[in-house]
Amino acid sequence: MFLSGKTAIVTGGSRGIGRAIALTLARKGANVVVNFAGRADSAASVAEAIRSMGRSVLVFQADVTDAAQVEAMVKASLAEFGSIDILVNNAGIRKDNLLLRLKEDDWDGVLAVNLSGVFNCTKAVARSMIKKHNGRIINISSVAGITGNSGQANYCAAKAGLIGFTRAMAKELGSRQITVNAIAPGPITTDMTDDLPDITKEKILNQVPVGRFGRPEEVAELAAFLASDAAGYITGQTIAVDGGMTCS
Ligand code: NAP
Repeated sequence: MFLSGKTAIVTGGSRGIGRAIALTLARKGANVVVNFAGRADSAASVAEAIRSMGRSVLVFQADVTDAAQVEAMVKASLAEFGSIDILVNNAGIRKDNLLLRLKEDDWDGVLAVNLSGVFNCTKAVARSMIKKHNGRIINISSVAGITGNSGQANYCAAKAGLIGFTRAMAKELGSRQITVNAIAPGPITTDMTDDLPDITKEKILNQVPVGRFGRPEEVAELAAFLASDAAGYITGQTIAVDGGMTCS
């Protein structure tokens, strides 16, 4: 219960890794704002699970690419809980294609959610964290942002950009005791990877020393630790949860 009394916003908290992070933070004592884009039913089921643990929850629909919607979410969160201690920038999409087939809309769309969305959310919560000289920001990047991946130029660029953003924010906000770290998951079993062709899944698995896809909960445990007081001297880091995919 090391997050007792803390409040966390988890973007894209309705499904997959975000869902696991929302539930894990709640299990460790935090009240949670579950953000989602369109799947109200999924967000509601996460909220119900959190309430059943005796924690408070606010479900908030906001498109992270829209700064006004993000501002409204942060305002509502502060009104409900009084402070925001933890921000997990998890919302993300992928729209893969080889460069010559990659449409400008798909380039823009992935950059908008996976990178500009993080800027919007971080900017919106930073003021209140700066005021109270405390905060934890955790950005969900990807091993694709470290190694690059054929057919994912938009996704890799956004996730690599997020690592740079993480370092910049760590330096800018460190003096206010706000830590900013990134997690780089390898392949994790969620809706995002469900629709990959079997041949692609097999190719991915060949690059993972532990020989399996990860579970969302395995990412969530690290997020919870980075959100804790115990992690106060860790900032600006990108930590892979990837079954050894990026070790060399
Ligand atoms: P997922 O199962 O597809 O879930 C995506 C989540 O993001 C959903 O909750 C969705 O909300 C939300 N979302 C999408 N666009 C949004 C927007 N514009 N505004 C607010 N919320 C939005 O994905 P996942 O696999 O859990 O991935 C979560 C994060 O981990 C992403 O940043 C992804 O890039 C990263 N990641 C995933 C893997 C993997 O193998 N799965 C590996 C490395 C990194 P709705 O439910 O309302 O649609």
